Amino acid sequence: MDPLLRKEKRLTPSSPIDARKGALEVLTILRDAGFETYFAGGCVRDRLLSTAPTEYDIATAATPDEIRSIFPKAKNVGESFGVMLVRKNETTYDVATFRSDGEYKDHRHPTNVTFTDAKHDAMRRDFTINGLFEDPIEDKIIDFVGGKEDLEARIIRAIGDPHQRLADDHLRMLRAVRFAAYFSFSVEAETAEAIREHAPHLSGVSKERIGNELRRMLSHQNRGVAAWELQYLGLDVSILGEGSILTAPTRVGRLPAIADFPTALAAWIIDRHTSEANLQNIAKNWREQLLLSNREFSALQEILALHTTLGSWESLGIAKMKRLASADRFPSALAILQAEDRPMFVFVKQAISKLLKTGLAPEPFITGDDLVAIGIPSTPDIGTILNGVYDAQLEGGITSKIDAMALAKVIAADILGDNIT
Ligand code: ATP
Ligand code: MG
Repeated sequence: MDPLLRKEKRLTPSSPIDARKGALEVLTILRDAGFETYFAGGCVRDRLLSTAPTEYDIATAATPDEIRSIFPKAKNVGESFGVMLVRKNETTYDVATFRSDGEYKDHRHPTNVTFTDAKHDAMRRDFTINGLFEDPIEDKIIDFVGGKEDLEARIIRAIGDPHQRLADDHLRMLRAVRFAAYFSFSVEAETAEAIREHAPHLSGVSKERIGNELRRMLSHQNRGVAAWELQYLGLDVSILGEGSILTAPTRVGRLPAIADFPTALAAWIIDRHTSEANLQNIAKNWREQLLLSNREFSALQEILALHTTLGSWESLGIAKMKRLASADRFPSALAILQAEDRPMFVFVKQAISKLLKTGLAPEPFITGDDLVAIGIPSTPDIGTILNGVYDAQLEGGITSKIDAMALAKVIAADILGDNIT
């Protein structure tokens, strides 16, 4: 997707085969009209890496006016940048005129663009592996930037002078880390040096973009490499708004391949602040820095709290163990425990399979209505009574509704100081 068009809504294809088929149709129509046209950027890279792309960007010598005369329904968002949206087979494709980016004033967007040829269009792209074109008709790769070689050598290298290219657009630093982690590539030395130099500044890059990049990195199975690279290159300071930490993010790295963003964030917070008493305060800061959604933030808070409780597993009573093990986010806390202390993880897992025999979260024997029916006033005390009764049920101390009602009366008398019959 063209970087100048982030917010545009688009239709996505139902399969990689459909994506390519539609892209090929658009490209063929432009070619038949006499315009040099290629597939460009990420889709070329991904195909060479043997992963089937679902997003195809098309780069062409046709100007926006020419594109519109060929595809009258093309949407002209970003027309001044030379990017049009063309719909084909229920899929939206970016069709972008070959361009050079003008001067960058805000470290993120060029102030103007000039229409140019394929070579210069390749040179305005960020990394050599993202600067390739594919001619699907001749079945050829067109490489003006040494991208094929770097793809084979598994290297992320800025196109042109890395200092200038990263200074122009600070987001490129985060993209470098994301691509390095996704593909297990290394960042070429000069590019890495330039990132280190510019890392303290992420000016021009919104918190939303920073959060999105981190969301993508930490949701991927190579999240450990991403976290490590961010720390190693000094980007952690500006994205997280806290001091530099070089402790290896081992919990993040050892999470199961499938782990969601809040789980990975919790693991990273613990990795970075092992000795810190109040991880919740750090979570609050991360929420602001990364513009986390309410849902992500409350998941993060819950995982951190569960992780803390899990730390004193052996001293919890059976009821507390069962309540903990049936919490929504317990699997995340357990995944972090697995990453930090395998013997303890095995111990807890075994204990849980024993607890499962008597049910982790059985249906409560009684409800608030049962208590109101025997004359207990409908106040928050009802919750306290029900909790006490449910604890006894979880512990196996009571085994029927009759037992539960008897216990409820005892607790009620204790709390309310009344004799309830
Ligand atoms: P993915 O879609 O998996 O993030 P991608 O390489 O396709 O990877 P996009 O953000 O979709 O990334 O961008 C498409 C292409 O546009 C890139 O391959 C690259 O050539 C170019 N590009 C994107 N962002 C930038 C940028 N910040 N600076 C320079 N070129 C960029
Ligand atoms: Mg893309």
